[in-house]
Amino acid sequence: MQRVITARDTGRVICRSCGLVASIGQDRCPRCSARLQSRDTQSQQKVWAWWLVGLIAFIPANLYPMLRTTQNFRTEDSTIIGGVVDLIDHQAYAVAIIVFVASIVIPVGKFIVIAYLAVLTGRAHRTDPHRLLVLHEVVEFIGRWSMIDVFVVAILTALVQFDVLATINPGIAAVCFALSVVFTMLAAQSFDSRQIWDRLEESAHHG
Ligand SMILES: [Zn+2]
Repeated sequence: MQRVITARDTGRVICRSCGLVASIGQDRCPRCSARLQSRDTQSQQKVWAWWLVGLIAFIPANLYPMLRTTQNFRTEDSTIIGGVVDLIDHQAYAVAIIVFVASIVIPVGKFIVIAYLAVLTGRAHRTDPHRLLVLHEVVEFIGRWSMIDVFVVAILTALVQFDVLATINPGIAAVCFALSVVFTMLAAQSFDSRQIWDRLEESAHHG
């Protein structure tokens, strides 16, 4: 395998907040004065810490009610999965699919991808670094859109409240879900994508 030349090999470091290429040895970025660090040595720990609290928050998000509907003095709680089943019962298949993808498929996929990236960059690997970078970018991109589910709840709330007899309120699970989204976003951001190249070098050196 051809040896990859990294910025560090040429004595340079890139500022992670403004993108300026500076020479190694400076403590602060000359343009935006952010801390310059060729590698974030604690990134692995930070990724796993955020990943874990994200996962912990995701469990109650699925077990507790996402929606609380009150109609004719009857109160009904429904979880995410319960809501999807209700929507299917009402033949609202498109909305059911949107809710299912936004609140189950995407979050679970994110947990898997972040764990995969963290495990791979923690040891020597031969995986195509470009593929790993694309995966990382996808996770960061999705993170910004993950609040969609909370908006779906808000929109459903607004729609149903036109019917004066029914009130819908977001349940405790909505808070847990939002926290889970924030924590996984922080996990993805803590990831130092430059380490993908370091471990690739190692595997090239050792065989
Ligand atoms: Zn800078």
